[in-house]
Amino acid sequence: MSTTLITGGTVISAVGRREADVLIDGESIAAILAPGQASALGIVGDAAIDATGKYVVPGGVDVHTHMSLPFGGTEASDDFETGSNAAAWGGVTTIVDFAVQNTGESVHDKLAHWHQMAAEQASIDYGFHQIIGGVDEESLKAMTYLVDNEGITSFKLFMAYPGVLYSDDGQILRAMQNASESGAVIMMHAENGIAIDVLVAQAVAAGNTDPKYHSYTRPVEMEAEATHRAIQLASVAGNVPLYIVHMSASEALEQVAVAQHAGRNVFAETCPQYLYLSIEDQLAQPGFEGAKWVCSTPLRTKHEHHQSDLWKGLRMNELAVVSTDHCPFCFKDQKELGLGNFSKIPNGIGGVEHRMELIYQGVVAGEISLERWVETCSTTPARMFGLDKKGVLEPGSDADVLIWDPNGKTKIGINDKHHMNMDHSAYEGFEIDGKVDTVISRGTTVVENDTFVGRKGHGRFVKRGLSKYLH
Ligand SMILES: [Zn+2]
Repeated sequence: MSTTLITGGTVISAVGRREADVLIDGESIAAILAPGQASALGIVGDAAIDATGKYVVPGGVDVHTHMSLPFGGTEASDDFETGSNAAAWGGVTTIVDFAVQNTGESVHDKLAHWHQMAAEQASIDYGFHQIIGGVDEESLKAMTYLVDNEGITSFKLFMAYPGVLYSDDGQILRAMQNASESGAVIMMHAENGIAIDVLVAQAVAAGNTDPKYHSYTRPVEMEAEATHRAIQLASVAGNVPLYIVHMSASEALEQVAVAQHAGRNVFAETCPQYLYLSIEDQLAQPGFEGAKWVCSTPLRTKHEHHQSDLWKGLRMNELAVVSTDHCPFCFKDQKELGLGNFSKIPNGIGGVEHRMELIYQGVVAGEISLERWVETCSTTPARMFGLDKKGVLEPGSDADVLIWDPNGKTKIGINDKHHMNMDHSAYEGFEIDGKVDTVISRGTTVVENDTFVGRKGHGRFVKRGLSKYLH
């Protein structure tokens, strides 16, 4: 096994920073050494990386991606190859994607399908959450089996999308009770889909078909109400750990904060699109342009204080994690399915490449600390979802490393930095004060010198343990 010594950098963890050298042996971190210690011990490394002036941080962990997701008559445009490569370009070394089961389908068959898609394609490590789109005796049994045997310890349910992935309150309660028994985490898409579908039908009937009506028909009350209801159901189901995905609205965040103060096991994530993008600046662009930013939960108005509240939530740990909900669709032929009817626009934004960059910009802007950047983008997502060897640079952990250049610059855009399989960028023209320098996945360099040097198939499925966040 070969060794690599990363010298001269500043190692950032969730709790602090120090000048240190990082010794990698094979696929693992072997030691974190004080400056000068390596030469005193005669350690040189088979390979050496000079990280002087740079930050050395645990590789990014994005726990919410949808490679090749079937949605609205089409499929997310990144597969596990293009999507994992783009993730690596963005300093991400682990993704947790969603295997999808719909009503009447076998959970085991669908999980096998996702395994098959990822196994030969992924260039970085990956795990799966299981979406349960049809809660019944069979799928409940499968949930227990997956926790006990398959390293799948989190299940996502939908209060949105009636007739597709939607679960009613009774089904949600049953799945939560099951998870409470097995120790799994319940992830929730919290929007009141039944009421939203009424608003959507009314908007379309009234001729209000532009992309911006996607947000107007999914008002914050519908996110806040569903969040509240999910929290109450989780409480009844034995205080099962509940993780609200893609939180976009102050009113929903408030529900999480209240529950946390009451001692409930409630957690939440947000995504860069909710921290940076809005109805006015993106979704309401003239004509059909806004379709690029149709996602659920939707972008919110910039005239309320959603974005500042979400940043505050990240500081206060009301929001524990930043993920991307990476679900890319091309404008041509995919987003265009909704020309003349916003409700037919595939829901999703591609962002797996840009999360580390965009949240680092929050450090530059003074919203969060460097340590909190590492914590929300690497350490906590790993602990939350039982990725026991990810998210930290400690002896014995996987050698997943991002070397970040704080003096570099990144310009995001279709003709600038853009490696996702999409014909547009949701963050076109964004400029970041910092840059991905080198990315290492289990000891193997996958990005260096602005070049992808990884390989399809290097990525390995990671069996996850139970959430460590409560223990
Ligand atoms: Zn999602």
